[in-house]
Amino acid sequence: MLGINIVRTGNDGNCYIITTDKPHFENHPNSIMVDCGGDKLPKNDYSDIGCICITHSHKDHVSALGKLLYGLAYKPIVIVSEGEYNAPITQRVLGIRSGKQPNVLFLEFEDDISKPILVGNFVVTACKAHHDSECPVHYFITDGANSVFVGCDTAYVDESTIHIMNQADAVLIEANHSKILVDESSDLSKAHMNEYGHLSNQQLNDVLPHLTHPKIICLTHINEMFNSYQNIKQEVGDDRRIRICLNENCPITTKIE
Ligand SMILES: [Zn+2]
Ligand SMILES: [Zn+2]
Repeated sequence: MLGINIVRTGNDGNCYIITTDKPHFENHPNSIMVDCGGDKLPKNDYSDIGCICITHSHKDHVSALGKLLYGLAYKPIVIVSEGEYNAPITQRVLGIRSGKQPNVLFLEFEDDISKPILVGNFVVTACKAHHDSECPVHYFITDGANSVFVGCDTAYVDESTIHIMNQADAVLIEANHSKILVDESSDLSKAHMNEYGHLSNQQLNDVLPHLTHPKIICLTHINEMFNSYQNIKQEVGDDRRIRICLNENCPITTKIE
């Protein structure tokens, strides 16, 4: 069984923890984190996290990384693409500029899919997302028994990504905004939204019919200005597998058997 713990999600911060209860290696941590963004992580015991996977170098995905990384008694492994590693904010949160030496493993790509990385009790594979940073990625994480796809911010989901998503038992994917609300709005941040490329409820509707295997679909990174629980209910087809994950309900925990 894998546990999914959505610590926070949305424009202000994103942090997702996957935990296995079937560890193959007892002396390795049982949890892996994807992204570590926001002002401060909620008080919690993070000592079971062996690895932190970075999707991309925007503030809402990496800003709390330094505090977590150097607040633990050991150094977790950081998995990141070289493009995102070189971004100034990543260099800062990893402490590179102040001489710190984080434990970094770089993703190595063959076309748009990375070579799998074995890290403790998990195998991590990444595929490329489409967002306004150097090399943003989605992650596919498995403990050998179950698997989770953790989606990055993305302007669209390409065919090879849909194929990977459909191998996972659970999918975390953004339902960032309602295209209808964005089109109706005269707010200036609308321009910001188009420019930055996030997935809408309407685009999600095109993806969902292709996801025949996943048992759970968590909708994350909901922009509360241009989307809501009600909008998602109305605009995304009725699917019993869907969980609408708003930051105000975090932490949200889900299990896959
Ligand atoms: Zn972003
Ligand atoms: Zn984001």
